[in-house]
Amino acid sequence: MHHAPRTLYAVPCLAMDKRGFLKTSASALSGCILSRMLPAQTSSAPRTNWSGNLTYSAPNLLEPGTVDELRAAVRTHRHLRALGSRHSFNAIADSPENQVSLHALNSIDLDPTARTVTVGAGIRYGDLAPVIDTRGFALHNLASLPHISVAGAIATATHGSGLHNGNLATAASAIEFVAANGDLVHLSRSADAEPFAGAAVHLGALGILTRVTLDVQPTYQVAQTVYLDLPFAVLEHHCEDIFTSGYSVSLFTDWQRGRATQVWIKRRTDQTYTALGPEFFGAHRATENMHPILGHSAEACTEQMGIPGPWYERLPHFKMNFTPSSGQELQTEYFVPFDRAYAAIRAVETLRDQITPHLFVTELRTIAADNLWMSMAHERRSLAIHFTWKPEWPQVRTILPQIEARLRPFEARPHWAKLFTVPPTQLDALYPRLADFKTLAAGYDPDGKFRNPFLATNLYGA
Ligand SMILES: Cc1cc2nc3c(=O)[nH]c(=O)nc-3n(C[C@H](O)[C@H](O)[C@H](O)COP(=O)(O)OP(=O)(O)OC[C@H]3O[C@@H](n4cnc5c(N)ncnc54)[C@H](O)[C@@H]3O)c2cc1C
Repeated sequence: MHHAPRTLYAVPCLAMDKRGFLKTSASALSGCILSRMLPAQTSSAPRTNWSGNLTYSAPNLLEPGTVDELRAAVRTHRHLRALGSRHSFNAIADSPENQVSLHALNSIDLDPTARTVTVGAGIRYGDLAPVIDTRGFALHNLASLPHISVAGAIATATHGSGLHNGNLATAASAIEFVAANGDLVHLSRSADAEPFAGAAVHLGALGILTRVTLDVQPTYQVAQTVYLDLPFAVLEHHCEDIFTSGYSVSLFTDWQRGRATQVWIKRRTDQTYTALGPEFFGAHRATENMHPILGHSAEACTEQMGIPGPWYERLPHFKMNFTPSSGQELQTEYFVPFDRAYAAIRAVETLRDQITPHLFVTELRTIAADNLWMSMAHERRSLAIHFTWKPEWPQVRTILPQIEARLRPFEARPHWAKLFTVPPTQLDALYPRLADFKTLAAGYDPDGKFRNPFLATNLYGA
């Protein structure tokens, strides 16, 4: 059988001018030569997560230049934890001793025949998307921002929206990682179906990912249309109609006046839908580009007004070279069964007067069911109820248990990368394959080298 030639790209940092690119290429080249002689670089400067709500306690950051350097580092250190693009809001990426940045592993290897792309663990979606689009390919979905790493996103079952779209980890067909003994392990969906379903949403617990293979499909265009002021009441009988009115649909709300402030409908131009008019289930079409947070400039947001564009410039809400969301903020998100979406929304709404003063915005999205053991959408299609909070942790900290109590009858699963107070005993009951996941992790990491306080509390604290 003929195989089209593969392409290997080494992607430098983003938004770089040509001079910067040449400089980086030269240093990358000398880095390759040096890395055969030097151990992983170590930095001990303080580090925070993206939003600045967390200063990591790990004293050291290791920066291996190659997989062999990484393997040597894993063999010789007692505690390590990979650090992606630092977009998680809790301490899931922290380590008592060493964090490891994989930014030097930045290859993009497209296989057009197999319809897959294999990326180094340092690659972010924003690096990857334009490269594969130029070659005629696309991913099935993206999160609200393209700034996050592929390895870090699949670790926490990061998702976009679309009742028929699985989270981003469902696009992974293979992963390669360094286990605690320094061995390089390769697992694939086709050859290792059962362990792979456990390993795709890996929570950083199995080892340090070096490469991820993702499914790709022929490239497509998306047009985004925004509506304002959708009454919640219409969700009682039209929830499915509304959330399937596009390929990816998001509702935003401040929880006041019984309505969604905005509806973002993202439609693929290669799919057929009924035409959108000036009214949509009682909402009216926006006449200019909007930011989900009312009052923020739409400059940072992807193009709307029904203007078609490449999938990667429409599926995220925020442009790559702008600050996504608000910047200084906290995030929380809970996943409930889609079939009970309306009741769950109304249950949270009862707390509106506690929530709104501390909220930038809530987003409601949908995710297809999957078979990944630690996915928040495991075995159930889901509505995700998301909160972008003002950076007011003392107040937010008191509201979360109230929201969690309202959502407990819906068996709400909190997002692994965001802030929550659900006790470990409840988490244990929410994930039927959790015990299997722990067994899988123990096989690759018998002494807890990749375990950190977040995992100790939330996976092992029940
Ligand atoms: C503004 C903003 C918008 C967001 N929007 C969305 C959204 O639309 N949908 C959504 O679901 N989430 C969203 N998130 C959350 C985000 O997707 C998750 O926090 C995601 O895990 C971040 O990936 P990261 O590369 O920053 O990883 P980090 O936060 O650095 O790490 C996350 C986890 O991945 C592990 N990890 C990273 N790299 C590796 C590796 N190579 N090997 C092993 N483990 C690794 C870390 O150890 C850690 O456990 C958003 C976050 C922000 C700040």
